[in-house]
Amino acid sequence: MALLLPLALAALGFTVGWSLPDVDQALWFTVHRSFFTHSFVLPLLIYLAARGQSWLAYTGAGACAALTIHLFLDLFPQAWRGYALLHAPLIGRFNQFWSVTFLLSGVVCAAVCAWLLVSRPRLRVRASEGA
Ligand SMILES: [Zn+2]
Repeated sequence: MALLLPLALAALGFTVGWSLPDVDQALWFTVHRSFFTHSFVLPLLIYLAARGQSWLAYTGAGACAALTIHLFLDLFPQAWRGYALLHAPLIGRFNQFWSVTFLLSGVVCAAVCAWLLVSRPRLRVRASEGA
């Protein structure tokens, strides 16, 4: 039972995190494949917001795990043009090199953040207390 709640929270975070980067399509101030949602920025913000509380840490870990996969899959477009390239306000579309670089930074950052959020000793102790 002690692991059920963390797993449910991680699954919730994973579900939300899976489509979270593509929320840029719905925001008026961003364009699809925004630098802010398809680079290290989003997982870093999730980590900073979730690291303080255990239930948020599990949810954030799930979200970061989903981000890792989402951003990794975005590394393989049909062609590196148009919406495959990352976009930043005032800069416009990045070229292929910078798009790949920032997507990779997101993959690595999301994976590290997911690991950090679930590997904190305090959380392990709490998870095993109820077992
Ligand atoms: Zn995407």
